[in-house]
Amino acid sequence: MAKTPDEIMGQLEREDVQFLRLQFTDILGFIKNVEVPRSQFQKALDGELMFDGSSIEGFTRIEESDMLLKPDFSTFLIFPQFSAEESARGRVARLICDIAMPDHSPFEGDPRQVLRRLIDRASELGFELLCGPEPEFFIFERNAQGRPTTVTGDHAGYFDLAPIDKGERLRREITNALVDMGFDIEAAHHEVAPGQHEIDFKYSGALKTADNIATFKFVVKRVALEYGVHASFMPKPVAGLSGSGMHCHLSLFREGKNAFFDEQGEHQLSQTALHFIAGLLEHAPGMVAVTNPLVNSYKRLVPGFEAPTNIAWSTSNRSALVRVPARRGSGTRAELRMPDPSCNPYLALTVMLAAGLDGIKQGLLPPPPVQRNIYKMTVRERRAHRVRNLPGDLSEAIGALENDEVIREALGEHVVEHFIAAKRAEWHAYSAVVHQWELDRYLDEV
Ligand code: ADP
Ligand code: MG
Ligand code: MG
Ligand code: MG
Ligand code: MG
Repeated sequence: MAKTPDEIMGQLEREDVQFLRLQFTDILGFIKNVEVPRSQFQKALDGELMFDGSSIEGFTRIEESDMLLKPDFSTFLIFPQFSAEESARGRVARLICDIAMPDHSPFEGDPRQVLRRLIDRASELGFELLCGPEPEFFIFERNAQGRPTTVTGDHAGYFDLAPIDKGERLRREITNALVDMGFDIEAAHHEVAPGQHEIDFKYSGALKTADNIATFKFVVKRVALEYGVHASFMPKPVAGLSGSGMHCHLSLFREGKNAFFDEQGEHQLSQTALHFIAGLLEHAPGMVAVTNPLVNSYKRLVPGFEAPTNIAWSTSNRSALVRVPARRGSGTRAELRMPDPSCNPYLALTVMLAAGLDGIKQGLLPPPPVQRNIYKMTVRERRAHRVRNLPGDLSEAIGALENDEVIREALGEHVVEHFIAAKRAEWHAYSAVVHQWELDRYLDEV
């Protein structure tokens, strides 16, 4: 249960907290912090603290730059001490905030409130979205200048009897820090590529999950820094190796029961589940710019690495965009496999929920599940199964978002406008560069 502001103030004093960090995310998903000393704690808890919104990507125009931070008291926690240096400075606590206009009305460009709006819409229909994400990341060495490289330090991991490598130790440290911060860790394991890891935490409601993802990324990077290495959530840091995804397991609950489960239904799935899955498939092109927002994201979405490239669902194989794991009963869920951890988790959950709810609203039904490896199907077989392609790059994805009214409406015009402008600029910057691949391929030949 959320503590009251008075209880939080009491705890801050008792535990001798020196700094309070007020956290929020911008439209592109970067975590922002306003850190205040003790003298400002009361003001911060009262939701009266102002910051300059014009300095933050996609927030406001210069003429309306003063924004208010409204703390969500249920997100209060005191950080573990990550280093001796930090301990000397004093303890730090944090609160995740919603952003308000100077007149205290909600700010439409705040991703957290965009997600709240969709959650409210779902609850009007009696549904709660639950999400369990599986974020993957790489641990890379830093060079002599302290800059991150793409060199991994755990080649020893290949030998059966090798001592536990640095990556393994670090993953344990990260897991411990997360547990200290209240995370319910279900699994932590090495991934397919050298230096690649996954830590899964228990599913929760959409807002809590988005907050958890933001906190998770911060903690992973912070602990890695302490070890002198670099943790990266870049979707495809090394060509030829598996990229880092963030599969999202999704289910709707209604009156405390999993609304995706129906013992009598086809595949033991309810109509609600089928509509939701059909909505995810229908809007996959329109939402991929949000769930996979970088130029680099699309280099992960290539055949052969268990990342989806086509729009299909399956109850068995991992080449599909949506997989329904074998679990039934309260664990019945759909796993959306395209998102990657570079996304803004608030906006990504917004578009997933919007897509699924639209499937329910329209009563959409998915084509039959594809049980074969889609990478190995011919073009004709794909057509017979109504398997469409996902957008192949960020530019195509932006176009698909522009054409998807349901996704645009869910995000709201303010967010859509700023998001698309920023992503177009990113694409143009990328397109203007002559890459090594082009030189290797064309310089000699043409
Ligand atoms: P995978 O087989 O794809 O690796 P995991 O078993 O690692 O999947 O991940 C399962 C994730 O699904 C966990 O985050 C878990 O909490 C979550 N999960 C379990 N039940 C549900 C549910 N009903 N709704 C949403 N997520 C769920
Ligand atoms: Mg997993
Ligand atoms: Mg697993
Ligand atoms: Mg994985
Ligand atoms: Mg998975």
